[in-house]
Amino acid sequence: MGVSYSRNKCKKCNYEIIMSGSWNFYRDKNGNIKSYGPTVPVSKEARESGIYGHRSSAYCDKCDKVFDIITNEYEIPYYKHCKEKTPKVSLWVRLKAFLSDPIFYDSIYIPKIKEIEIKCPECNNKKMFFRSLEDIICPRCNEGNFKESFEHYF
Ligand SMILES: [Zn+2]
Ligand SMILES: [Zn+2]
Repeated sequence: MGVSYSRNKCKKCNYEIIMSGSWNFYRDKNGNIKSYGPTVPVSKEARESGIYGHRSSAYCDKCDKVFDIITNEYEIPYYKHCKEKTPKVSLWVRLKAFLSDPIFYDSIYIPKIKEIEIKCPECNNKKMFFRSLEDIICPRCNEGNFKESFEHYF
């Protein structure tokens, strides 16, 4: 999964809302959410934990706030999952993929994802925005529209 940045700037009052995602995360032994690193694990703990899922910032127009929320979480963390035997992909293919490109390695596996309801942690609004805000009116000046600039990394 790649990381992208979405900057939305009001054409009228210059109010700017910045969102980014997806970010890989893992949970430590107490269940706390920690950053895994965008491509490779940032620590030994991260590597040994595997990727638990992805987080992203999301904007709630009712609260006029950006939140950091979990967008999906696997039933079995990535990389842990990959160590299990899968009849479809040979060990050689897995090893080659892992050595050449961990992102490609990701794409071979489609682990099961837990059901997560995406909603605002403060007001329970289910219509969160992850990218473009071009469809809404600026909540600060109540007049302008947003113009998005979008960048993608990794
Ligand atoms: Zn505005
Ligand atoms: Zn809200």
